[in-house]
Amino acid sequence: MRAVVYQGAHDVAVEDVDEPELEHPNDIVIDITTSCICGSDLHMYEGRTAAEPGIVFGHENMGIVEEVGEGVDTLEAGDRVVLPFNVACGHCRNCENGKTGFCTNVNPGFAGGAYGYVAMGPYKGGQAEKLRVPYADFNALKLPEGGSNEDSFALLADIFPTGWHATRLADLQPGESVVVYGAGPVGLMAAYSAKIQGASEIYVVDRVPSRLDLARDHCDATPINFEEGDPVEQIKEIHGSGVDKGVDAVGYQAVDPDKEGDGAYDPARESPANVLNNLIRTVRPTGQLGIVGLYVPEDPGAPDDMAAQGRLGIDFGLLFEKGQKLGTGQCDVKSYNRQLRDLIIEGRADPSFLVSHRVGLDEAPEMYERFDDREEGVTKVLLEP
Ligand code: NAD
Ligand code: ZN
Repeated sequence: MRAVVYQGAHDVAVEDVDEPELEHPNDIVIDITTSCICGSDLHMYEGRTAAEPGIVFGHENMGIVEEVGEGVDTLEAGDRVVLPFNVACGHCRNCENGKTGFCTNVNPGFAGGAYGYVAMGPYKGGQAEKLRVPYADFNALKLPEGGSNEDSFALLADIFPTGWHATRLADLQPGESVVVYGAGPVGLMAAYSAKIQGASEIYVVDRVPSRLDLARDHCDATPINFEEGDPVEQIKEIHGSGVDKGVDAVGYQAVDPDKEGDGAYDPARESPANVLNNLIRTVRPTGQLGIVGLYVPEDPGAPDDMAAQGRLGIDFGLLFEKGQKLGTGQCDVKSYNRQLRDLIIEGRADPSFLVSHRVGLDEAPEMYERFDDREEGVTKVLLEP
């Protein structure tokens, strides 16, 4: 079958690989209908991780059940399903508590498993014609029959739940104000979730005009372009006092507008790229921060620039002085996807405004490049094998 295979920094190719098979009675194999490109894939794509060539990418997967293991009770061939990006066992202590992003069984030694991701276990990605799904009864979420809401449902694999998770990590309450750093797919889903949850004011910070337009038009947010000046000062001018809650949907790849080129990580405490410090500065004393942008642990064995990635110049003293709380980590997709699916079915949520491209697998190399450039108008790309 055909699959998107990582070749090395800034290089993916569509190649022939072995088809997946049932490996355990609890497995299913699905025919992929869509698998999205994610900002998380870009960490590997840009060569900033230990990903080895040969990884099949794709953790945002949706499809039709094709083969069913004999231990699977609730699924049958022909069912339409969407898979959380997390691979989870369902019965470890974290899974029992709903913390499926931190399953201790599927990827011993690391926190949690995922499809097609470096250090997240042996699970192949779904940017391919077929995918093996372990612990299928637990992991697969059934979708209604028929082809409705395809674009919205595809976003249930990761970014709609992740955006929602960001607002929960920040403990956003109805009538509160919130700032979201990053208007990529995840930040836009956080702002959209904040709107659904009744936020009084939403500020979204980015520098890509088409993304800021989506924040204004679909999330009722006030767009803040960080290339037009310190975003903290810009928000203060409009809002006055500190914003109640804050979300980081950028992560460690934050761009510094004062530097040449982009994507340059700068650990310097004063760097405008230091989204964490900007969040601490923007949010009011005793406010709460939800960090879903990805950060990686310090790795002394890695090349210099990568080793430092985990060590951020955070102004912890300011966080302490302001008595702020913070929540971090991978989204436990399964804690949210059923409810969000039902909001979509009932017409109370429609996150499909995010989907800018639906293309065949052969166009994956070009779309990786354009999404990585944060090209105007390239917001969320769905691959249809
Ligand atoms: P993305 O990387 O395109 O989004 C990041 C956005 O931040 C871009 O629009 C970029 O222009 C903007 N940006 C860059 N520097 C900035 C700065 N200094 N200030 C404000 N904005 C800045 O794609 P994405 O898919 O939205 O992913 C965002 C982050 O979320 C990534 O780090 C990704 O790995 C992470 N993520 C986490 C989870 C989770 O479960 N926690 C799930 C999915 C994605
Ligand atoms: Zn993703």
